[in-house]
Amino acid sequence: WDMFVLAFLERLFRPTYRKDDFVLGKKLGEGAFGVVYKVSLAKNKSSPKQGDLVLKKATEYGAVEIWMNERVRRACASSCADFVYGFLESSSKGKGSGEYWLVWRFEGEDTLAGLIQSKEFPYNVETKILGEVQDLPRGLERENKIIQTIMRQLLFALDGLHSTGIVHRDIKPQNVIFSEGSRIFKIIDLGAATDLRVGINYIPKEFLLDPRYSAPEQYIMSTQTPSAPSAPVATALSPVLWQMNLPDRFDMYSVGLIFLQMAFPSLRSDSALIQFNRQLKRCGYDISAWRSTVEPRASPELRKGFELLDLDGGIGWELLTSMVRYKARQRTSAKAALAHPYFKREGLLGLSFMQ
Ligand code: ADP
Ligand code: MG
Repeated sequence: WDMFVLAFLERLFRPTYRKDDFVLGKKLGEGAFGVVYKVSLAKNKSSPKQGDLVLKKATEYGAVEIWMNERVRRACASSCADFVYGFLESSSKGKGSGEYWLVWRFEGEDTLAGLIQSKEFPYNVETKILGEVQDLPRGLERENKIIQTIMRQLLFALDGLHSTGIVHRDIKPQNVIFSEGSRIFKIIDLGAATDLRVGINYIPKEFLLDPRYSAPEQYIMSTQTPSAPSAPVATALSPVLWQMNLPDRFDMYSVGLIFLQMAFPSLRSDSALIQFNRQLKRCGYDISAWRSTVEPRASPELRKGFELLDLDGGIGWELLTSMVRYKARQRTSAKAALAHPYFKREGLLGLSFMQ
């Protein structure tokens, strides 16, 4: 009851907005299911504390996205961009059911996609997340330390979502934003997310999935669960289904590909990633087999990735191989990945000299 009252009060006192409250700014993105703008509040609504906002005008899928964002805000707020408000804007004349408008705090200019495309990566991220002082000289050790910190933040955010019962299904650098306020990376775009505990969006919208970062399995749920049970049934069953099907491992494959792109400069472009996917498929999704086919004739750029992942006895490579696996149930979870020795490198420094 306390929770209920708190939720009610929070609802009551949270500001509500309508169409005319927003002044549209720069367009930030446009997909098949919506358009995203940077916006500010109209004079009468703005308060000095409030900075810029982001507005997504979404089609019918906006309803699910609002639901997901509300849930994230209550259960694992730091995982995703701060959600402000969502509503159905139905006033547009003669356009049927209208649009869903979703509003977030503007977290900053930089997505991970933009940052990894820079020649300076990962040094362009270093001061953002590690502060100014670095005693290491530029080189693999230092780059690895930055990439490790980004991965820890991504896995932490994912663990929050997964522990809440949400599978994102569209994890990619374009959907990771650097929050200037919190100085961490956060996940955005819950437009393809699914919540298995309450049966929301239970039937996967495969057509939404991005083939560049998707795990080889097309469907998150196995074909043993052909249709969505009604919400109460799903609530009772889904923890078991979650255990059986491990739907969160879909995101783990995608985050593994992000790790790969951060480690290998030559795999950061779209075309290179698509080519990698083709090669990996040809190797039966066995990344060690892929390694043995490309390493003998590897470019210096590709070799650099292997060297980075081979630091400290190859624990980075070990972590990568535990995420990029064909079988979902053989992939590590976000929680287990966070406990991987790769993230305890500080304590292991020096071990490589002892081997
Ligand atoms: P889409 O469905 O078009 O992919 P996204 O939710 O991913 O929509 O948003 C599109 C783009 O808008 C993002 O890639 C990012 O550049 C920007 N963006 C989205 N949300 C935020 C936010 N909270 N703060 C800053 N930029 C954002
Ligand atoms: Mg997106």
